[in-house]
Amino acid sequence: MVRSVENIGEVAGKRVLVRASLNVPIENGVVTDSFRLDGALKTIRFLSERGARVILVSHMTDKAASLEPVFLHLKEKISLTFVHDIHGTLARDAIGSLKNGEVLLLENIRNDAGEKACDSDFAKSLASLADIFVADDFTVAHRHHAGIVLLPTLLPSYAGFQFLSELQGLTPALTPRSPSLAIIGGAKLTTKAALIERLLQKYDHVFVGGALANDFFKARGLEIGGSLTSGTDTAEKLLNNPKIIVPSFVTVESGTGVRDVEAGEIQKKDVVWDIAEQSIQSLKNILQESNTVLWNGPMGNFEKGFTKGTYALAHAIAESNTNSIVGGGDTLASIQHLDLMDKFTFVSSAGGAMLDFLANGTLPGIQALEDSVS
Ligand code: ADP
Ligand code: MG
Repeated sequence: MVRSVENIGEVAGKRVLVRASLNVPIENGVVTDSFRLDGALKTIRFLSERGARVILVSHMTDKAASLEPVFLHLKEKISLTFVHDIHGTLARDAIGSLKNGEVLLLENIRNDAGEKACDSDFAKSLASLADIFVADDFTVAHRHHAGIVLLPTLLPSYAGFQFLSELQGLTPALTPRSPSLAIIGGAKLTTKAALIERLLQKYDHVFVGGALANDFFKARGLEIGGSLTSGTDTAEKLLNNPKIIVPSFVTVESGTGVRDVEAGEIQKKDVVWDIAEQSIQSLKNILQESNTVLWNGPMGNFEKGFTKGTYALAHAIAESNTNSIVGGGDTLASIQHLDLMDKFTFVSSAGGAMLDFLANGTLPGIQALEDSVS
């Protein structure tokens, strides 16, 4: 069992190191999407209000990037300070002068190579900064990094509210109530193969859309023209699984324009870019009969303007009474664009961590919390 930060006990005067989810898009030194930051505040406020000395640690994807823009953004919402250091003298001095309830943000943890290398000396040095660890970044819980899997072996550890929200929101997708439907789209079957294989054990139907469908068309021996495929044998292996549903109509583009065709009618000159109206309709019919629906991955190449299938699907799920769990980086972007965020039972913002969690039923960062020292 992962222990909740709610059960952390007396924290007044204690140094609590929080792995917060602060990796947000930044342009010209300014945060451009603060959705994730708002979520991070709940755990920070909870600890600060109880008198903890809160030390925030987080990462930026780019190891050379600074968290200073995030600090400037957070400063508008809560009182905190920032040091350009992770575990050196500057950080230690700043932590030493923290008063009860105060919050300090450390620099991008990936500035130190020890994070990604999962270096035990780095982890020990980090652990020496604090008395308790709170993991609140589910989006990196699939990574074997020092600040994710090693800290819980060194400090009594708890899951923060944002972490728990993802864990509790996604867990029902592991054991869906029948009749259940999983809809998986996107670009590469290779990145979704493990997930699809697991879903086939638990779900009644697995609809395969986006470019993933091309692999199945090809495995059936159909012409797919210049359409994107992944070059794995997953589709061949799964072709005869009766739970798999492949779109029967698709939108293709050729030199002469865009048209909808039956999957068996795709020509050499065509490229498949989306699922077509008839497939959306049959998907809606299955959806109406479903108790649980899991959706990840766009149905078409929206960067090229082929948004119809994805948007129609998002609306159909949002308008249904089904228990709906949706997520994925690009899927989330579509839902945000349509302003449908609050129309689903749960929307995950965990990206790759969500896919790994659904494929494996757990994550290294969850396991570490379950095994944490007390
Ligand atoms: P998510 O981030 O939600 O998990 P993915 O990253 O797996 O989704 O997939 C998103 C990508 O899939 C987008 O770049 C989109 O253009 C691409 N895609 C979807 N359908 C097609 C298609 N038919 N051909 C080429 N690319 C596609
Ligand atoms: Mg993506």
